[in-house]
Amino acid sequence: MSAVWTLADFDDHEVVHCVRDHASGLTAIIAIHSTHLGPAAGGTRFWHYADGEAAVRDALRLSRGMSYKNAMADLPAGGGKAVIVADEARTKTPEMLTAFAKAVEALAGKYITAQDVGMSEADMVALSQHTSHVAGLPGQGGDPGPYTARGVFLGIEAAAKRALGADSLKDVRIAIQGVGSVGGGAARYCAEAGAKLVLADIDDARAKALAEELGGEAVLTDHVLSADVDIVSPNALGAILTEQSIDTITAKAIAGGANNQLATGSEGKLLQDRGILYAPDYVINAGGIINVLRHIDGADDDAINARIDKIPARLESIWEESQASGQAANEVADRMAKSLIGR
Ligand code: NAD
Repeated sequence: MSAVWTLADFDDHEVVHCVRDHASGLTAIIAIHSTHLGPAAGGTRFWHYADGEAAVRDALRLSRGMSYKNAMADLPAGGGKAVIVADEARTKTPEMLTAFAKAVEALAGKYITAQDVGMSEADMVALSQHTSHVAGLPGQGGDPGPYTARGVFLGIEAAAKRALGADSLKDVRIAIQGVGSVGGGAARYCAEAGAKLVLADIDDARAKALAEELGGEAVLTDHVLSADVDIVSPNALGAILTEQSIDTITAKAIAGGANNQLATGSEGKLLQDRGILYAPDYVINAGGIINVLRHIDGADDDAINARIDKIPARLESIWEESQASGQAANEVADRMAKSLIGR
């Protein structure tokens, strides 16, 4: 493997810890990208990788993403991410979790962990037996989905205002891809605001049931991005905005909660060239992390909601700057985030 600092995803990370515990078989990486704004916060992922370098790259990339996300959410938190390297059988033992938790504890609060892919709520509770630096435990604010959904809804309203000149969502046509925790929640808010909904989910029955409940239309997942609507809201998978899919979009704006919507990043420019307003995903979907990190500064529900209420203004400042500079919205967001973390 190449030296960590020569990898393309290395971005002057403050520290990259490699954790090995022979007795339990634990291999983990804890990447601390920035503590400029506060303790490096970001989830722990339990995942099987093709090789060690892929695991390190993932930790580097994801921790930088958390720095940007936390900064743009106005949180007193930096960015970090941990990756526990799973074997092919994805064996996870209590001993491995204990060893990992002790490694987090040894960092004395410089890194705060939370749940991510491959880690259950029970795993997080197990970690908390050995470290106090775990955020989002049961009973501490609950499911982030509804908070993310509210932020996405506010972002959709902001997009409607900017792209359509609409002061409300009344009669605005919105296609929602994925109606789970985030998409379903956002759909309910939009319906309440008078929007006309087109819903799609690979779980067809789920989309149909919600469409019936909210008075919308359910369509096949293949047709949702190209639906004849004003706004598309992706709330399922990442990498759905590609050169090909962007060609088929007739909506004026894209505003949804799915992570990593742009397949490579360069699609932000394609959207801009086609005159499609884009709400950078990590800015519009920050409601969940705002809630998960509530204990960092003891924020109560009012303070959490006040932070989520800032999402539209943050998006507006990105779009303003994008228009003024000619830079794509996703690039502007990254630039703003970098400046907030002193880079
Ligand atoms: P979820 O599992 O509750 O819902 C996802 C829904 O998308 C499910 O109903 C699923 O059937 C559907 N789906 C999957 N593949 C699909 C496809 N190809 N086409 C259409 N529908 C499809 O997940 P969630 O918590 O609502 O998260 C949705 C997205 O938002 C994810 O990208 C997630 O990373 C991101 N996100 C979630 C949160 C949060 O707080 N939950 C925070 C930030 C970002």
